[in-house]
Amino acid sequence: MAILEIVKAGDPGLKQECEIVDKIDSKIRKLLTNMAETMYKADGVGLAAPQIGVNKCIVVMDVGDENGLIEMVNPEIVEKEGSMIDSEGCLSVPNVFGDVERFEKVTVEYLNRWGKKKRLTATGLLSRCIQHETDHLKGVLFIDIAKSIRQGDKH
Ligand SMILES: [Zn+2]
Repeated sequence: MAILEIVKAGDPGLKQECEIVDKIDSKIRKLLTNMAETMYKADGVGLAAPQIGVNKCIVVMDVGDENGLIEMVNPEIVEKEGSMIDSEGCLSVPNVFGDVERFEKVTVEYLNRWGKKKRLTATGLLSRCIQHETDHLKGVLFIDIAKSIRQGDKH
């Protein structure tokens, strides 16, 4: 396992659309493990592959709920409803927070580390996290869509 370097806003890799993973092999599983370790070490609730310089549709998240660590390959939001506005931050944009409007409830389909198709419906923080991380895979950062931006303090 290894801690990976998190790239910061301004890096062109964060503005690219990511590639679909066509084969989930031991390399992808190792990447998932290292991404989770990097996320926990950085005290984040989510991390997308472009944030560690890998242009692939892979995200990990753990918002501290009963789901624990969730690893997603090729995630796609297939249902969405409602809206909510709350404060958001990003490991690639340190010490910056902003109010971002998101769907209140989303359903996401993805592959787990064994290539098994999964479906998850989420509300609240996990829903927000899923939308934030899948945005990374499209080259979108929260600062691109935030209604307001501030330095330093979450609220
Ligand atoms: Zn982020």
